[in-house]
Amino acid sequence: MTFITRFAPSPTGQLHLGHAYSALLAYDMAQKAGGRFLLRIEDTDTARCNPVFEAQVYDDLAWLGISWETPVLRQSENTDAYEQALEKLGEMGLLYPCSCTRGDIRRAASAPQEGAPMHGPDGLIYPGTCRHREWSDRSDKDAVRLHMARAVDHFERLPQYTETGVHPVLRLTPAHLTEEVGDIVLARRDTKTAAYHLSVVVDDAAQGITHVIRGEDLATATPIHVLLQALLGLPTPIYHHHRLIRDDAGKRLAKRDDARAIALYRAEGCTPQDIRNMVGL
Ligand code: GLU
Repeated sequence: MTFITRFAPSPTGQLHLGHAYSALLAYDMAQKAGGRFLLRIEDTDTARCNPVFEAQVYDDLAWLGISWETPVLRQSENTDAYEQALEKLGEMGLLYPCSCTRGDIRRAASAPQEGAPMHGPDGLIYPGTCRHREWSDRSDKDAVRLHMARAVDHFERLPQYTETGVHPVLRLTPAHLTEEVGDIVLARRDTKTAAYHLSVVVDDAAQGITHVIRGEDLATATPIHVLLQALLGLPTPIYHHHRLIRDDAGKRLAKRDDARAIALYRAEGCTPQDIRNMVGL
């Protein structure tokens, strides 16, 4: 089996040292395995994505000494595939439309009978206000949610996955999925575009990814991805969640940490090898 991995940045800001580490690690692992390294631009969030940042992704990666296959998959050009996946899950009876705003969810989740509001990988666990609604009632004003209890019931035995990185494997169990993850959004309300969990799963399969190498911050999303892969009949890659690059105070770097943008180090005369040294590669 050829080792195929990818780097999948969202062009919503400048790449920083954390991205450099992720991209270089994936690239090095692919080189070592005699495999392939692919790039994917995760630009479904049109309000936050910017072509200037996308151009800078290519520029920074090339400067780091990374090469990738073309054409690059841009999620904004692949929306039909996400809609087909949604249709499939909808026909399986696993989706429902949801018109709740964030405020509605906050209020319903903190109602006294609900106990303390629970947080999952995507924020507050959805209290289920729209769960009774039919998939066929979906309108432009609705988000789309996965009916987690039904998704879990779909399996006699829930799928599992292999992890080779720093993060422990999170077992998929009915209790974890229904109580600690809940009815996640698979298509957003405002833009009608696929949410991250759906597009990532569809595209990892479309690109034939065998090894997903990404930051530990995404490890809690992996059970969701593995579940969606099994529901959609897609293969499950091997997961490798790597350590995060932190600032001097121990906080993980965010897009707004422009102080650690690769572009800035470049402007200051750093070499790609300096960057490798900084991230411990
Ligand atoms: N687009 C995501 C990010 O920039 C990465 C998604 C993934 O690697 O699965 O954080």
